[in-house]
Amino acid sequence: MTGSVTVVDHPLVQHKLTLMRERDTPTAVFRQLLREISLLLAYEVLRDLETTLRTIETPLAEMEAPVLKGKKLCFVSILRAGNGLLDGMLDLVPSARVGHIGLYRDPETLMAVEYYLKLPEGIEDRQIVAVDPMLATGNSAIAAVQRLKQAGADSIKLACLLAAPEGIESFHAALPDVPIYTAAVDTHLNDHGYIVPGLGDAGDRMYGTK
Ligand code: URA
Repeated sequence: MTGSVTVVDHPLVQHKLTLMRERDTPTAVFRQLLREISLLLAYEVLRDLETTLRTIETPLAEMEAPVLKGKKLCFVSILRAGNGLLDGMLDLVPSARVGHIGLYRDPETLMAVEYYLKLPEGIEDRQIVAVDPMLATGNSAIAAVQRLKQAGADSIKLACLLAAPEGIESFHAALPDVPIYTAAVDTHLNDHGYIVPGLGDAGDRMYGTK
C-alpha cells in the first residue's frame, strides 16, 4: 500500500515558502511566515472534516447551516521545530488540543530518541495532526507517530513544510495509512540528513539559535 502525499501548491504557500528558504530572511520574518503558512497548510489538512447541519437564524431567515461535527482535533508538535507550525494552526482552530512529543536526532545514527511526551486525554477519539516542519530522513516523524499509535491514537495525519523523497518513502514504508501534507517535496537529503535545497535547520532559523 502506498501512502498519500498532498503537496499544498497554492501560490500563497509557495510564495511564502520561497521567502522562508532564502538565506538572508531574518528570524522574525521567518517565524511570521511559518505562522502564516501553517494556517494555510492546516486549511488543506482539515479539508475533509465532517460537518452537520444546525438550524440558525440569520437577520433575514431561518436556515440549516453547516457546523463541524465528529472527531475533536489535536495537534501534536514534534519538538522543537514542530512548535513553529502550531501557532498558525491554532489561529485557525483555537479550540484544538495540543500534545508535545520530544525527540532528538542522534547525530551519529540519525535515529530518533524520545525525551518528552505529553498528550491530552481521549487521544483515541481525536483526529490527530502531527506537525514537524521538515520530513528529512523520516526517523523522528516515524518514531513520533508510532508512539502516538502506541498511546492509542487511531486517526493521524502528518503535516510538514518540506519533505525529502527519502523521508516520504521511509515514512510510508513504516506508516502507509498516515497521509502526509507538505508545501513541497525537495530533491534529496545531503550526507548530514539535511533537505536540499531546503531551508537549513528549521529550529535554528525560527529561534535564531545559530
Ligand atoms: N531538519 C531541519 O531542520 N532541516 C533539514 O533540512 C532536515 C532536518
